[in-house]
Amino acid sequence: MNVHDSERVAGTLVSKGYTAVATMQEADLILFNTCSIRDKAAQKVFDRLANFKALQKQGKKFGVLGCVAQQEGEAIFKRAPHVSLVVGSASYARLPELIEQLESGEKKVTGLEAATDEAFETDYTRRDHPFRAFVTIIEGCDKHCAYCVVPFTRGKERSRASASVLTEIRHLVELGYTEVQLLGQNVNSYRDPSPAGLSFAELLVAAGAVPGIERVRYTTSHPRDFTPEIVRVMGENPVLCDHVHLPVQSGSNDVLRRMLRGYTREHYLGIVDGIRACARPLALTTDIIVGFPGETDDDFEQTAELMHRVRFSGAFIFKYSPRPNTEAGTWPDDISEEVKAQRFAILQQRQQEMQAEDNQAQVGTTMKVMVEAFHPKLAQWAGRSSSNRVVNFTPMAALDVLGQPGALRPGGYAQVRITKAGPNSFVGQQVN
Ligand code: SAH
Ligand code: SF4
Repeated sequence: MNVHDSERVAGTLVSKGYTAVATMQEADLILFNTCSIRDKAAQKVFDRLANFKALQKQGKKFGVLGCVAQQEGEAIFKRAPHVSLVVGSASYARLPELIEQLESGEKKVTGLEAATDEAFETDYTRRDHPFRAFVTIIEGCDKHCAYCVVPFTRGKERSRASASVLTEIRHLVELGYTEVQLLGQNVNSYRDPSPAGLSFAELLVAAGAVPGIERVRYTTSHPRDFTPEIVRVMGENPVLCDHVHLPVQSGSNDVLRRMLRGYTREHYLGIVDGIRACARPLALTTDIIVGFPGETDDDFEQTAELMHRVRFSGAFIFKYSPRPNTEAGTWPDDISEEVKAQRFAILQQRQQEMQAEDNQAQVGTTMKVMVEAFHPKLAQWAGRSSSNRVVNFTPMAALDVLGQPGALRPGGYAQVRITKAGPNSFVGQQVN
């Protein structure tokens, strides 16, 4: 989501006549887009800023955007005095105007409106990826999970009209994109504000029906709003990628209740049963937080047990980090760093073992891969399967005299038979 925000900010500035450059050395203005989901992410910003402080002497100006800007505001000027622009996500539309203020000689410029109900709609997006495009369908979040800063930095939930989403996708096809990824903190609570009134599942089907689109992904799903209809349409439409990212956070009902997640472990396992019964096999990935305040050994064991029961294709595991403004942020962070690290390592290791075993079972199958890049040293292409797994493969066509691969090109698709599997990627051979 942050990557896509950067693309939209860059598009807005390029449309006003600014030019993006390849290196910091060439830049007059350096903007850091930031994340404050965990304290470590927020700290990184200040480390990075400190590293580049010397560039200020060359007349370069620094700006901080995103959630850290939204959260810390003018305090950033104190901590990093070489910063002269601080702009939260609610003020991106005003960015060109704020940069003009800076250019006209103002020393410290801020855009710190409170996170609003306004969507950040842009006419121009400068996309980083030439074949896969992000498309925002819903912004903000109304869930207020006890640990999470997002509702404070991103504001209230607001959905984008389905016609606007579909127009953007049609336009992307004209530009040569074949894969779109629909974005939102909780895509399942999408409510089309226009008279068309599409549900999220209906929007998925409509996106997949845009001529020229080969793949539709989406992230992130919330178990509370995930409906059987979503699984049904995924079963019926192979253009919808066979991957669901459904963060569970914890396997303990007591922890889930205190996290204010609004579902139980039994409810989550019921959704998993529905996903497993889908007409096509779907990869299921998740997010987990260890060391939430008050998490006992027994709570933790229940999370580990749930992971074994579900056997996720991938899991992002995080150590709990108290965040400002949140409800849990006012509670004692009572699980020691040592215990958090232990629990993190245990889950990480078990997850890797399960992934290695399950991926091994895929050897011999054939996957459709979107081709991304050629690695001349290995004489292999790298790409991604529909379930978003990395696949490195040898092409069928022989390499030409320059060692360049023949028939394939980035952005195209290839059928690949899997010959080897590791926990995080596959190796294969292109087939007809
Ligand atoms: N909207 C998504 C998650 C967005 S944040 C959802 O509800 O699932 C991405 C992930 O960061 C979360 O799923 C959670 O696992 C993790 N996370 C969020 N706040 C955190 C915190 N304070 N400490 C540790 N991990 C956190
Ligand atoms: Fe944060 Fe919960 Fe909203 Fe996800 S659903 S963004 S975890 S408050």
